[in-house]
Amino acid sequence: MRRAVIALGANLGDRGSTLREAAAAILAVPGVRPVAASHEVESVAMTLSGPDETKPRYRNGVVVVDTDLEPDALLAALHDIEDAHGRVRVERWGDRTLDLDIVAVDDVVLDAADLTLPHPRAAERAFVLAPWLDADPDAVLPGAGPVAALLAAVGDDTVRVEEPRLFASRPSELPGAPQ
Ligand code: ADP
Ligand code: MG
Repeated sequence: MRRAVIALGANLGDRGSTLREAAAAILAVPGVRPVAASHEVESVAMTLSGPDETKPRYRNGVVVVDTDLEPDALLAALHDIEDAHGRVRVERWGDRTLDLDIVAVDDVVLDAADLTLPHPRAAERAFVLAPWLDADPDAVLPGAGPVAALLAAVGDDTVRVEEPRLFASRPSELPGAPQ
């Protein structure tokens, strides 16, 4: 069993619904169990040439799960979920209905053709770090350090959205929990 951190992002369509559906779809993958989830945040679109205010803004979130799946099988499952949400791969870092990235899987270090772990740009992306810290206040990015310190270093330019977490991640928030 491994612990995986998954970043969700969308800047086209009904972004909030897409993120919530994607989080539910991730939990529905056989061999995946919920650990914690963030609220949603908004941020300015990041393109290959830098932040672009003229592009639709992003909605982002992070989910933490336990899984028996190997990282490549997890990535394949995430690609299926992206495809189910009409993702069309046109340009790298281009507008998208849904982007699912694996931020880290335990302390696994991997540099394969189609999967790099930890995600090489996670340490500099507030839209990954802020929701990850929200989901897990003790989060540590392998090889880089505590997420709280990384976020303080890059500066948090994300804005929290007034919606519940992507899934209930505290025992007290689960359906049927004593109030
Ligand atoms: P980006 O997320 O950088 O905008 P894409 O979502 O189009 O780009 O992903 C491009 C490729 O990145 C994917 O096909 C995948 O094989 C590869 N990739 C490498 N490492 C990871 C990772 N940690 N999580 C998700 N995709 C990854
Ligand atoms: Mg991606």
